[in-house]
Amino acid sequence: MRFGIGYDVHRLVKGRELILGGVSVPFEKGLDGHSDADVLAHAIMDALLGAAGQGDIGRHFPDTDARYKGISSLALLERVMEILGADGYQVSNVDCVVVAQRPKLAPYITRMAKNLAEAMRVPVTAVNVKATTTEGLGFAGSGEGIAAYAVAGIKKVPEGTGQ
Ligand code: MG
Repeated sequence: MRFGIGYDVHRLVKGRELILGGVSVPFEKGLDGHSDADVLAHAIMDALLGAAGQGDIGRHFPDTDARYKGISSLALLERVMEILGADGYQVSNVDCVVVAQRPKLAPYITRMAKNLAEAMRVPVTAVNVKATTTEGLGFAGSGEGIAAYAVAGIKKVPEGTGQ
């Protein structure tokens, strides 16, 4: 068993769609970034790559590369699974926290977990998504941005199982 941690922050700006865990969340602002800026998917990808000893998403998908402009981060997550799969790893479980003062994310958590589980090709029970505010403190509390933390556990696929 190997473990990895991921952390990411994106700035909230007007005129962008808010995408979290592949869900379009209705809100007056969205996250700024080169891709769809799905901060939750980014934190999970960094946790997975970290667990596999494969660096981070900046190394695999540089934001200077036009191919990744506006791309769905779930598509990048599928790419990360190919990187892990090539090394013989499968995901055991992922736990994560979205840190946002607003909007209220509870109604979207189940769909986020489902999207993320599908992209990682694991049962939805292997993915746990949580959300918290910061009681108004700091950049998340003031609504300047949204942060996400993730921890991933991965394991080697047993030889000869054909998985
Ligand atoms: Mg990011």
